[in-house]
Amino acid sequence: MSDQRIGIYPGTFDPITTGHCDIVRRALKIVDKLVIGVASNAGKGPAFSLDERIEMARNDLTQFDPNGSCIEVRAFDHLLMHFAEEMNANVILRGLRAVSDFDFEFQMTGMNARLNPDVETVFLMASESHQFISSRFVKEIAQLGGDISSFVSSEVATRLVARYRN
Ligand code: ADP
Repeated sequence: MSDQRIGIYPGTFDPITTGHCDIVRRALKIVDKLVIGVASNAGKGPAFSLDERIEMARNDLTQFDPNGSCIEVRAFDHLLMHFAEEMNANVILRGLRAVSDFDFEFQMTGMNARLNPDVETVFLMASESHQFISSRFVKEIAQLGGDISSFVSSEVATRLVARYRN
C-alpha cells in the first residue's frame, strides 16, 4: 500500500458552494489526494442531475488543482465505506457548520466507524465567512430571484438562474 494519504469528501453538492470549496482548499493541507464523492442521492430530489453536479464541482475545483494531480471528482451511489475502500482512502472529510449538523454527523460517523474502523472521519469547522452557506438556501434564494453571487461561483450562479427561470 502506498503511504499517500487519500481523503474522501462526500456530499450531494447540489450545487457546489464557496463553503464546499473552502473545505476542499483546507482539506488539501491534510491529505495528498482528495476524492470528491458526489452522491447520486436521488431520494433527496436534487435540483441538478448527477452529471451537472459533477461538472460544476470539477469546474470550481480546478483552481485548487491546476495540474489535475490531487483532486478527483467522482460519482458514487453505494455505501460510503465501500466507496472509501475502493478508493484506498484513509480519511473521510466532512464540514461542520452549526450544532444542527452535529447530531446527524455524530451518528453517521459512529455507524461508519463500526463498518470500517480503519477509516477515520475528520471534521473541518466551517470558516467564519462560510458558515451560513448551504446549497439548500442558495437554491431557495435563487428561486426567489435573490443575489447568490457571494455563495457560488459565477458559472454555478448562471446555471442556478437558468434552472429557476420562469
Ligand atoms: P450532504 O447532502 O451530505 O449534507 P452537502 O453537499 O450538503 O452534502 O455537504 C457536504 C459536506 O460539506 C457536509 O459535511 C456539509 O456539512 C459540508 N458543508 C456544506 N456547506 C458547508 C459550508 N458552508 N461550510 C463548511 N462545510 C460545509
